[in-house]
Amino acid sequence: MTGDASIVVYGHEWAQRLLRSAVMSGRTAHAYLFTGPDQVGKATLARAFAQALCCEAPQGERGVGGCGRCRTCRLMHDGYYSDLRLVEPVSGQIRIDQVRDLIREATLSPAVGRYKVFMIQSFESANPNAANALLKTLEEPTETTRILLTGNESAGLLPTITSRCQIIPLRTLSASIVDAALQRGWQAPPEQARLLAGLSGGRLGWAVQAIMRPDLWETQRRQLDEARVLVGQGVVDRLAYAARLAEGEDIHLALRSWMLWWRDLLLLQRGCDDLIVNSDRLAQLQPMAAQLRPADVRRYLQALMTTANLLRQNVSVQLALESLLLKVPLPA
Ligand SMILES: [Zn+2]
Repeated sequence: MTGDASIVVYGHEWAQRLLRSAVMSGRTAHAYLFTGPDQVGKATLARAFAQALCCEAPQGERGVGGCGRCRTCRLMHDGYYSDLRLVEPVSGQIRIDQVRDLIREATLSPAVGRYKVFMIQSFESANPNAANALLKTLEEPTETTRILLTGNESAGLLPTITSRCQIIPLRTLSASIVDAALQRGWQAPPEQARLLAGLSGGRLGWAVQAIMRPDLWETQRRQLDEARVLVGQGVVDRLAYAARLAEGEDIHLALRSWMLWWRDLLLLQRGCDDLIVNSDRLAQLQPMAAQLRPADVRRYLQALMTTANLLRQNVSVQLALESLLLKVPLPA
């Protein structure tokens, strides 16, 4: 067998240290909850930790991510390890029957290794029945079961769940860590790595996706161009665009890139040219920054953030977008 099958985690050093020392001392909690913003590396860290838990190497030789050489590491790396179960949302939700299956399995002994590990992704999407069903398993864990949840902290995880897990709260990474990771792990050319690191807002997963899925990247750049011309357009065009977006575009993707765009405008207006993230679009940003009043830019940035929050609460997408796009400031 060739190659290193350990899972590499970039950044989150404190969390890696904490998990590594738990593995080395043999004292791990029964359940962990990795929280943090989207695409910041929660699932990767959880997967790496699962591998460290199950790895066959002596405790001292296992980093977070496992030894990368034993049979277990290789099987886990390729997704074929029978004692690791991955539970993902189905149609946007973790459902009670998925949790019931898990509970049934958790009562069985591991088939091959030390632990049965269950990874439940996006646990904030569990409906209350599913979350409550899991509670009993968290309260009365078996010695050979480890449950690793990942979730978005802001989206209301039940306190009864969080209080029974060791919480690993992850934050966004620095741009320099994302930059280095893209070059080392994904062989991105330095220029591309720097641009994506800035645009990622510290979400390595997003930057990697932009490399692996150029179509998403192109969608985002197109949405940026479309939104940019709205500054010169009237009510009818703006409402038509809101309707078109609401029909089937990735709104969250659009909002995030718009926020970065408008933040760049503000930075340019304040003379902080070196801090902008859309460095490939400087030629379009500069005249726009000169045309708009700083107070208007600030107000619109605020409106973008408010809209992003509203959209997480199931408001009508089209209404929210209409209201937002009508607020796009006019040139001074
Ligand atoms: Zn190993």
